[in-house]
Amino acid sequence: MQYAAYKKISCKFASKKQKRHLQLSHADIERLSRLLRGARKVGIVSHTHPDGDAVGSSAALCAFLQESLGKTDVKVVLPDSPSATLRFLLRGGRTIIASDSPEEAREWLLSSDVLVLIDANLPRRTEQLEKFLVESKAEKILIDHHVGPDRETFGTVFSETEISSACELLYWILLEMPETGGEASCLPASAATALMAGMTTDTNNFANSVFPSTLQMASALLAAGVDRDFLLDRIYNCYRENRVRAMGYLQSERLHITPSGAAFMVATRDIVERFDIREGETEGLVNVPLAIEKVKISLFLKEDDGYFRVSIRSKEGWSARNLAQLHFHGGGHEKASGGRLFFPEDIAGPGEAEAFLEKVCEDYLK
Ligand code: 5GP
Ligand code: MN
Repeated sequence: MQYAAYKKISCKFASKKQKRHLQLSHADIERLSRLLRGARKVGIVSHTHPDGDAVGSSAALCAFLQESLGKTDVKVVLPDSPSATLRFLLRGGRTIIASDSPEEAREWLLSSDVLVLIDANLPRRTEQLEKFLVESKAEKILIDHHVGPDRETFGTVFSETEISSACELLYWILLEMPETGGEASCLPASAATALMAGMTTDTNNFANSVFPSTLQMASALLAAGVDRDFLLDRIYNCYRENRVRAMGYLQSERLHITPSGAAFMVATRDIVERFDIREGETEGLVNVPLAIEKVKISLFLKEDDGYFRVSIRSKEGWSARNLAQLHFHGGGHEKASGGRLFFPEDIAGPGEAEAFLEKVCEDYLK
């Protein structure tokens, strides 16, 4: 089987990263397989502002349930809509966007007998779906790669942090299922494509969190026929002109670098409106200042109603996650995290954000 081969290779090369083998327990795989096979109605849920990994992993699991297990009552339920460049991954008629159809989302979650939360560690990350996820009498499964999984709400938990993405974790899980027999080529084509897409975006196109197992997954999916050129074109080359102009403006006019090496850019409402910045259109911008040698940590803030959405990235030795937890009500991965900055609770108003960041970052990097 592919998984056995993976274990052997990672052992042989004893990579500095991923010292520990991916340990999928047979008992968990069997339980998962039994739950999914016996399910009458399934809801697949992911986090708010769903990114490529959230959309890709949800879509891939949905395709597997439909095409490999023959399930008809399966839906992906997302708190809100993903960016336009990711929507091609979602299946027609198989997705409920809760912000557009709250009643349909509620009804689906409460009437499902199996619910899967993927690419999120806590029900809270699904915002308005949290209470239905918790209240539902369904069997609950968690598949995630963040630290601190909620083992109370979920009876079956697949949680791995030494892995690139939820898509990669799902890939290795699906390869353990009898329907694939360890062969990537036995995955439904749309599932293989969605898994490659989410892994690609979560690694920032193979720039971060790449493990030996990640490249093995990529290699097997390519060999199975996934069209990576098509994917890259859809994900990275289908933006509107506004994105490039807004990113140029923010970098040239709004980038601040503190003496200790924190970089930040704040997109207040006037900028969001001037450039008509839509969901996902500033994706990746937060990484850019890390190209500057002295920058250790980079933040990007985008104004929403009553708060800023905060994205944080850091270099080795500096924790983006700690900063997110300490000052932005958030969390995430060690070097890629996020949160929120509320006004008037955290700062008096949007105009105070830059001064707040200057102070908090200088204190943090001292
Ligand atoms: P991004 O900057 O791409 O929006 O988010 C990067 C990562 O930070 C996400 O993959 C997620 O793990 C984490 N993250 C983003 N926003 C939040 C938040 O509000 N709360 C928590 N706990 N994590 C977040
Ligand atoms: Mn992810």
